[in-house]
Amino acid sequence: GLTVGVLALQGDVREHVVALEALGATAVRVRRVEELDRCDALVLPGGESTTIARLARTFDLLGPLRERIAGGMPVLGTCAGMILLADRVLDGEPGQQTIGGLDVTVRRNAFGRQVDSFETDVTMSGLAEPVHAVFIRAPWVEEVGPGVEVLARAAGHAVAVRQGPLLATSFHPEVGGDLRVHRVFLDGVAALA
Ligand code: GLN
Repeated sequence: GLTVGVLALQGDVREHVVALEALGATAVRVRRVEELDRCDALVLPGGESTTIARLARTFDLLGPLRERIAGGMPVLGTCAGMILLADRVLDGEPGQQTIGGLDVTVRRNAFGRQVDSFETDVTMSGLAEPVHAVFIRAPWVEEVGPGVEVLARAAGHAVAVRQGPLLATSFHPEVGGDLRVHRVFLDGVAALA
């Protein structure tokens, strides 16, 4: 079976662990490089991207995470996790660092300028039925590089993208018990393994 890490420095780690285990994966909370080394794939959870990035540096994980991503490790990033995966951030805190790897520009707290949180049904390529998507101070994807596919839009903005083994959503598929986004991710991991 697949061993999938959840970066467990801050944020909604437990919700991702529950979703991954419900799909039959072995979920590992990753705080140290030894834990990362055991993983076939990784989830970057929702939470606070600045805090997670700061802790990743403190825990000496930033370099190892970048190396694994450069080496082709599949990663699912949700909300703050999408920001962490992005190569470029608009409206970040001064000097905000990301892990990077995904050739997109995200705008942090983008929807939050109108409304902090909202829920809406989103049509996502590859899924027959819409996803009920929960957005909480969510980013949107403002620009994508040539290798990036937009999978879903909300209010005219890209909110789910894929670049090879990297999948990112502005919303929180780990909330609400709909396992389809995690399943799409794990199917992609299994296809590479
Ligand atoms: N606004 C948060 C950030 O910038 C993301 C919010 C979330 O993950 N729900 O990291």
